[in-house]
Amino acid sequence: MGKAERIQGVRGMNDVLPDDEPWWQRFEDAVAAVMRAYGYRRIRTPIVEPTPLFVRGIGEVTDIVEKEMYSFTDALNGEALTLRPECTAGVVRAVIEHNLLYDGPKRLWYDGPMFRHERPQKGRYRQFHQVGAEAMGFAGPDADAEVILLGKRLWDELGLTGVALEINSLGQAGERNAHRAALIAHFDAHAEQLDADARRRLHTNPLRILDTKNPAMQALVEAAPRLDQFLGAESQAHFAGVQQLLDARGVAYRINPRLVRGLDYYNLTVFEWVTDDGLTICGGGRYDPLIAMLGGNAAPACGFAIGVERVLERMRRTHPDEAGARCDVYVVHMGGAALGPALQVAERMRDVGLAVILHCGGGSFKSQFKRADASGARFAVIAGEEELARGEVSMKWLRAPGGPGASRQETVALDALADRVVGALLAADNEGI
Ligand code: ATP
Ligand code: MG
Repeated sequence: MGKAERIQGVRGMNDVLPDDEPWWQRFEDAVAAVMRAYGYRRIRTPIVEPTPLFVRGIGEVTDIVEKEMYSFTDALNGEALTLRPECTAGVVRAVIEHNLLYDGPKRLWYDGPMFRHERPQKGRYRQFHQVGAEAMGFAGPDADAEVILLGKRLWDELGLTGVALEINSLGQAGERNAHRAALIAHFDAHAEQLDADARRRLHTNPLRILDTKNPAMQALVEAAPRLDQFLGAESQAHFAGVQQLLDARGVAYRINPRLVRGLDYYNLTVFEWVTDDGLTICGGGRYDPLIAMLGGNAAPACGFAIGVERVLERMRRTHPDEAGARCDVYVVHMGGAALGPALQVAERMRDVGLAVILHCGGGSFKSQFKRADASGARFAVIAGEEELARGEVSMKWLRAPGGPGASRQETVALDALADRVVGALLAADNEGI
């Protein structure tokens, strides 16, 4: 019979292999600790949501809804469903459905896979992961500053460097509309200077004209009315409040008047954390209209989403050597009568919290030892029939203290083994081995 055809994973959807896991673990541990430090509680929502949730919650004329969603009809009952492209809409749905804001504001966070049908490239995948924080029910700039500080603490915790904060204020919808009208008037008045692209966008999306790369239009764009000139006193005070809190904490930022964010539901503060090689690793802001847009009682909210793969990529580059220890002990056993006692020995060590691999599949002493070495364990425990008959096993350093070649071996009574291994590991940690 020929070899069966191989089935490949879906393009743009990655396997996380065990060698990569220490990075993920380190990241997730830091996230959990930082969220806890700020009083955020985890919420887990389904990966699949009704399609209208995203169409309404993200906005019909966004990149995500126009061309990036994995939407399908459930063949069994005809429901229109979508793999979540982001999690804020799902969290808001859950908050409304379970009336979570009934007794006051809530601090929530999530972590999980998101799905967007984009062209895969470095830092851009079709299944990727986001960690997000959502502060719901808070209207003031204190909450905006809090979620920014939370992100900053996470970068510090992870030892990330070269990450800069950009902030802007989008004001309120009325202010944005007035700005939009002024933009259209400005470009209309100089219609002869617009290229074809800009003319097409003039009445659909005049903001996009500001992003033009056409050198001939730079002067016109420079002279265009700016959104900040249209912010009313309240919007200005909110933005000033955020800046004061960041200043008070010594958080550096750059005001970027061009920062708008992709999604429709943002208002007032928006921000991004950008690396020195130009990648956005976290985007967020205030989205006061969203809860009411999705059918809840109006309540203000702000938050952010971190692109996990992009952070991990950065971590790998900042600390290239960080690989987690894999296990403490590898148990090698020789002779048919040794397996039963070896299994007991392994279980007793696990009882005291050690990570133990018990050799499976037999083989010569040499081949078992090769496996022990490759396992990354710090000790091998050798259970031979003769020693076991005397109530003993041997213990051998695999990561030798004092450098290679100085490996030690000793005989230990079965009853004392677990304690001896724990003691030796502690001593080794103290010596920095
Ligand atoms: P972009 O302009 O890069 O497409 P976005 O505005 O679509 O970003 P958000 O929806 O704000 O991104 O998502 C927050 C973060 O999630 C991004 O800053 C990025 O780090 C990450 N992210 C977004 N899309 C992807 C993707 N396809 N693959 C990996 N990470 C992503
Ligand atoms: Mg995008």
